[in-house]
Amino acid sequence: MNYRHAFHAGNHTEVFKHAALTLILEHLLQKPKPFAVLDTHGGIGVYDLLSDEAMRTNERDVGVNKVFGRPISTAPIYQNVLESLNGQGLRFYPGSPELVRRVLRENDRLIVCELHPEDGGTLRERYRGDPRVYVHLRDGYEAIGAMLPPPERRGLVFIDPPFEGKDESDRIAQALRSGYRKWATGIYAVWYPIKDTTLGDRVSTAIRDAGFKNAIRAEFCPIRRDGVTLAGSGMAVCNPPWTLKHRLQRLCDELVVLIGGKFASWSVEAIPDAQAA
Ligand code: SAM
Repeated sequence: MNYRHAFHAGNHTEVFKHAALTLILEHLLQKPKPFAVLDTHGGIGVYDLLSDEAMRTNERDVGVNKVFGRPISTAPIYQNVLESLNGQGLRFYPGSPELVRRVLRENDRLIVCELHPEDGGTLRERYRGDPRVYVHLRDGYEAIGAMLPPPERRGLVFIDPPFEGKDESDRIAQALRSGYRKWATGIYAVWYPIKDTTLGDRVSTAIRDAGFKNAIRAEFCPIRRDGVTLAGSGMAVCNPPWTLKHRLQRLCDELVVLIGGKFASWSVEAIPDAQAA
């Protein structure tokens, strides 16, 4: 495992992914019934943007640097967490476990998996004192088969892999099949990077083949899509909250102004053949 997420914290794919994640959390928070989130690929939770890793790439320049301190009216939870972590100016970037943890109520739960031993240790240490957070140093894909459905029967499975290996989309497909068998009514969100068009199509096919009837796919690319460069990223959501499509459209509309370049593009659409029967 060579991938270290610290090199990429706060880049444009992160801003889109995390803002979109908070829209799903907003939906879960609307009802008093407790929910659970299974975050299969957790990272370390919070990233220091002044670390050697982050400074080496400066990926935040086209990302959180462009949104911090400006209103993000379409994703208020995302903006609030960014601000509350950074009272003295932008330094820390919240990863998915931190964004989720910050909105948990007393009886909600976050289960996070991280396979990298050092990052997993950091994550476990960070959340040691929070009884609502369970950190597992294990394979997140396998956790889908082992830990679902959650007793709460309400919640989200967030799948955010590094896309290091060539078999990542196969593993996603397998995980979605297993997830559908174990918990067909859960919300599943799968993030993917966009260089060419194939990954998004493969994730869509995996969702349809797993059996999900209702799914959407949102893609946000602040950079021109040339088939090679990391132009942006996508999020596919199975069993999306009914307002999510519209909320994601509004989010992309706002982000494109904040971080989009001249050739920025976005789309939010139902995944063909996975529409409500
Ligand atoms: N979700 C995190 C966030 O939003 O802040 C970032 C996740 S990062 C893209 C992917 C993480 O998954 C890395 O920290 C990597 O070490 C970890 N990882 C890679 N393969 C894994 C697996 N099979 N199970 C669990 N974690 C894995």
